[in-house]
Amino acid sequence: MVVRMRHTRAHTANRRSHHALAGARFTACKDCGAKHLMHRVCMQCGKYRGRVVVDVLKKTVKRAKKIEAKSAKGGSASGGKSAKKTTEKETAKK
Ligand SMILES: [Zn+2]
Repeated sequence: MVVRMRHTRAHTANRRSHHALAGARFTACKDCGAKHLMHRVCMQCGKYRGRVVVDVLKKTVKRAKKIEAKSAKGGSASGGKSAKKTTEKETAKK
């Protein structure tokens, strides 16, 4: 809709009353029960609709190696905690 003329504040506010963003919708994974975004892969088990799509273990190992290399260099390892946690979970599973 093209706004042609000056509108009152009330008119503008009325129009914008529908512009609010909705929160992200989460659902529980059918396989592991972890919460994930709707219509997205579960990053806890790497499955989408019961089918394995992402090799989670491979990904976490790769990420851990990357962080290790970064910390060896002397850079700050931001976000390293979460990756470590997931690897611990994976190892506990198996
Ligand atoms: Zn899952």
